[in-house]
Amino acid sequence: MARLFCGIFLIILALPGPVTAEISPESVSVPAAASSGATQFPPRYSLRERRFSLRERPHRVELAVVDDLESPLFSLNDLRRFRAAANSDLLEIGEEFSRIFRYRLRQRLTLRVLSPAQYAVEVGNAKWTNAMFAGGVITVPIRGVSTRKLASLRRSLRHEYVHAVLFELSGGRAPAWLEEGVAQLLEGPPNPTLGEALHARLDGRGAFALEQLDHGFVGFDPDEVTAAYAQSLFAVRSLINRFGFSAMRCYLERLNQRSDSEHAFAQCYRMSPSTFQSNLTEQLDVWRRAGRELP
Ligand SMILES: [Zn+2]
Repeated sequence: MARLFCGIFLIILALPGPVTAEISPESVSVPAAASSGATQFPPRYSLRERRFSLRERPHRVELAVVDDLESPLFSLNDLRRFRAAANSDLLEIGEEFSRIFRYRLRQRLTLRVLSPAQYAVEVGNAKWTNAMFAGGVITVPIRGVSTRKLASLRRSLRHEYVHAVLFELSGGRAPAWLEEGVAQLLEGPPNPTLGEALHARLDGRGAFALEQLDHGFVGFDPDEVTAAYAQSLFAVRSLINRFGFSAMRCYLERLNQRSDSEHAFAQCYRMSPSTFQSNLTEQLDVWRRAGRELP
């Protein structure tokens, strides 16, 4: 079963099933004019079965908007604005990340957009999720097109795009703490609630062992999930500050070649995972005692 990656504060869930079918070019269309004869201005459209092509090279991104009947309606202008924002964000993110990782995504990436109601049904109990990545598909809800909503969309797209890149580089073998750490590092400024959760964890039960964070955070208490995300960010920041992205790419590629994880880590980071764990525990302790606010 494939792993499903989510945005900040989002538990990595088991994938409930195939997310979406590939959209064929024939099915791509822009919504037609209002079909209803109602005198409503601006005309409103159901999102049902609206599909847009975002097939802009070189990123091969497509966007499908699907909906159920109980969802709010968005105007055609709203949909166009959303599409334009998502499109330019993804192009920009693709360019930026290809410079950071020195790697350009090869797989076809599909952006799947759901109404909030449909999205809520899909994520089930994980109501706090704001985006998901699985099997080459980024799924986001459309919550509006205000400047604030579109900024939040950009943050989600950055986070999920990292998962797409890391998945491809590592063949899906990167530890969850590394996935979530890099995704948070590149999504934007850290979420302000991370620090408090990490302090509570360190003051109480102490730092997580990294092995505890290898396979996702399913089964963690809700308050531990935030701390797990926070320590993942802290750990990745520590590695990036010292070794940069080239060592990370080295590690991911060795994992993809099915190298033993410990051996791959030692080769690319010139220390064993257990040495890194001890360094990390010390750094976390310094951070805790200094009363720093963000990991
Ligand atoms: Zn994530």
